[in-house]
Amino acid sequence: MKKIEYLKIAIQNKLYIHKSWIYKAFSITKPKEQQSEAYGDLIIEPWGYSAVGPNGKEKIDDAVANEPLFKFKDKVKIDSSWATNLKEPIETTIGNLLFNHIAILSTFGDKFPYVTGKVEVSKLEDFIATKLQDTPEDESKRSNQYFYVDEYTKFIDALQYLSMFSQLTTWAATPKGIVAPTGIKEFKTQLIKKYEGKLNDPVELAKFEDELKAFDDEFLKDDPANGTFLAGKTKNVARKKMFLNVGTGLRFDNKMEVNPILSSLDEGWPTDPEHFKDAMNDLRAGSFSRGAETVKGGVSAKYLLRSANNFKIEDKDCGTYLGIRRKFKPGEEQHLTGRHVVKGNKSILVENNTIASNYLNQEIVVRSPMYCKLPGDSICRICAGERLFKYPNGLGIPLTEISSILLIASLKVMHGTVLSTAKMNLKEAFT
Ligand SMILES: [Zn+2]
Repeated sequence: MKKIEYLKIAIQNKLYIHKSWIYKAFSITKPKEQQSEAYGDLIIEPWGYSAVGPNGKEKIDDAVANEPLFKFKDKVKIDSSWATNLKEPIETTIGNLLFNHIAILSTFGDKFPYVTGKVEVSKLEDFIATKLQDTPEDESKRSNQYFYVDEYTKFIDALQYLSMFSQLTTWAATPKGIVAPTGIKEFKTQLIKKYEGKLNDPVELAKFEDELKAFDDEFLKDDPANGTFLAGKTKNVARKKMFLNVGTGLRFDNKMEVNPILSSLDEGWPTDPEHFKDAMNDLRAGSFSRGAETVKGGVSAKYLLRSANNFKIEDKDCGTYLGIRRKFKPGEEQHLTGRHVVKGNKSILVENNTIASNYLNQEIVVRSPMYCKLPGDSICRICAGERLFKYPNGLGIPLTEISSILLIASLKVMHGTVLSTAKMNLKEAFT
């Protein structure tokens, strides 16, 4: 028997629903003393693997001893006899094939097209959201055109199951991911000369650090760590401090002039008193923010909740022609959907993102609670917009989104900050 023949038997018999089978087939495991020899079973042998197929126990000819039988990245050519949601034969990875069986076929069935390449759950959810409907009470009302809530719940359970295999599938370290880029010392010496006398200016320092990061990016570009476990703050803060330079770090004052630490942690703690103090403050400031600054989030939540306590949204139109004047850019459609746009002496509801896209890149007036004319503690439905109107007495709920931004910002400081510059179009920002 060949590996691919056994894989098909395993898939047809849904062996992937057993955690033990996945561990046995995708890693090197020690065999139990007594190995089961039921149909489909995989048997670990001193010289490789055998499996029980239609002709009884057979050697898997192309299996290698002391190597996992399969790897998730192994390529296989498959057709719809392997996965019923496949329209035409393709080359895919075993990882993709298993994902489709575990998360897609067992939940949505073949109405969900075969998922291939890098799987991103948020993208799948975006697709599901467009067709998601309540679970029908009558089973016969199920249609292939829609996804139902009970199927989605099963999908979430399946993803939970998949998370159990993180030890088998996740890159934990790569040869380049755990070392400094080759030649960084020489490159940095040159760079320090180039920026001599300028590095007390945060803008120049940001440029200097960008050059260091570009050098590191070049080193990492073909490494699987790049963009997976080395991304975002892990790369821009942790890896940067470890191998490139510590930089300015966090402080308890806010001066415009900086005195950066140009060495990396890999090169050792700075020993001059000034920089040693900065390094210590950097360590303490993160914890301080997390402990003491988060209070601001809590306090503002209480203020906002109290101020909104008595507010009500009424199903009326106060009739104002005033609102917030602004330009919406592509990608911001969802902020406009459900709001009312003032046109002449009328207010028009923006029903969905498609309609919203007609209003992009032009100055428009959007009705806003800021301009509502209803007396007392009331806001009209038209000024509030359809989304807020769903919570006529619960204005506090959306308001706490403001305080949660403050809270998250102080929690994030714990992980350090990135010094970077951005271009801003003043004309756009203030219209
Ligand atoms: Zn109003």
